[in-house]
Amino acid sequence: MSERTNDASRRELLRSLPSVDEALQRPEVRGFAASVEPQLLVEFVRHALEALRRRLKSDMDPAAARAALDGSAWLADVERAIAEEHRARTARVVNATGVVLHTGLGRAPVHPDVAARMAEAARSYLTLEIDRESGERGQRDARVGVLVARLLGCDAAIAVNNNAAAVVLALSGLARGKETILSRGELVEIGGAFRMPDVMAAAGTKLVEVGTTNRTRIADYRAALSPATALLLKVHTSNYRVRGFTEEASLAELAALGREFGVATCFDVGSGRIDAPLAEPLGMLGDEPDVRAALASGVDVVTFSGDKLLGAPQAGILAGRAGIIARLRKSPLYRAMRLDKVTLVGLEATLELHASGRGDDVPTRAMLRTAPGELARTAERLAGILRGLPEFAVDVRASTSQTGSGSAPDVFLPTTVVRIRHARLGAAALARALRLGEPPVFARVEDDCVLLDPRTLLAGDDERLVAAFRALGA
Ligand SMILES: *Cc1c(COP(=O)(O)O)cnc(C)c1O
Repeated sequence: MSERTNDASRRELLRSLPSVDEALQRPEVRGFAASVEPQLLVEFVRHALEALRRRLKSDMDPAAARAALDGSAWLADVERAIAEEHRARTARVVNATGVVLHTGLGRAPVHPDVAARMAEAARSYLTLEIDRESGERGQRDARVGVLVARLLGCDAAIAVNNNAAAVVLALSGLARGKETILSRGELVEIGGAFRMPDVMAAAGTKLVEVGTTNRTRIADYRAALSPATALLLKVHTSNYRVRGFTEEASLAELAALGREFGVATCFDVGSGRIDAPLAEPLGMLGDEPDVRAALASGVDVVTFSGDKLLGAPQAGILAGRAGIIARLRKSPLYRAMRLDKVTLVGLEATLELHASGRGDDVPTRAMLRTAPGELARTAERLAGILRGLPEFAVDVRASTSQTGSGSAPDVFLPTTVVRIRHARLGAAALARALRLGEPPVFARVEDDCVLLDPRTLLAGDDERLVAAFRALGA
């Protein structure tokens, strides 16, 4: 075909493109109306037609263009845009990774009773910040403070949006414009943008580094004390361990030094392991520090996450001495970081579970404590069902699961996984198809196999998982 006829044929094709209005009248497009709002549908149709027009004007071979137009390839573009719109939603997923506190998947799922109270709180008015007796303005996290103090055996506590905020509040409230001493072994980075030196700068306190990466003694802190020192900080190295020729000052030593010089002390515990009197100790977590023990060592204030081992919604908790907590409560940052009513009720309800001796029912704790035999039985049962589906080769094998969220990085909990290969897809492609499927499933990939770890499956997830695999096979 000559250039000339090519051009003529292009022009003719361009003329035959439907207008947006015409396109919207097409039965297929009207069929989309149920799954996308009208404004957005118009936009997607316009986009798809424009894209086709651009391609026609530039390089598209007319024969291919005609096929695209007759076959309404632009319709497929519209359909894809609608599907992408749906996928962009924050969707419920099945976590088959075995990573209990998976930050990417929202960390701790709360207990169903807690979720019910959160739903109730979301749709109603509450005694959030009001005193029922006087009708006067009250304090929103007063109850949470009392529950935390009882659980941890300390004077007082407050709660903010997350532990990063709790650390910033502690630094700013106790040491703004002054110096904070921290060991070089604890200059941690937690999840991307949270780097201790930057956090200190943001909170307006001057970082004074002491010791070395592997060894810091209490004498190093003592030597660095000056009239400008306002805080002795200790940060738990949550996501890594320094091994070998190492030494660190104990929390008790640091607390004693602070008391001797009238300088505040703070410990960022991170994951918030709490070995409460009414719960089984989380012995499987090895040397992960316990918040109660940290407070008992005499430190003024500790900070930890609500949505790590405590198993509550996202929050940061500051607990410790009454005077210090009262000071932090007065900080303008505290007002800027306060919890919303739904989270607050979720945190309160989770703390009540812990207080009433039902702490072991909190999902994160329950998942960590699931017996290996039970995990093996679930894996066998799932494998039995999945073996019935064509296209998949399925077996079961021993493996390990991790806590996640940087907690206990070298703790591997024994589990049994279902190992899956697809007849045609490689493991990465299968994992991707599972993520994009309905319901979305997140799994591990190892040795070119997809692994499903039963540890992190919630009630009803077995059926969701099987449905997702059936949908893939269909
Ligand atoms: C996880 C963690 C943080 C950050 O807590 P978020 O609740 O994610 O903001 C800070 N410090 C330590 C030691 C941690 O483990």
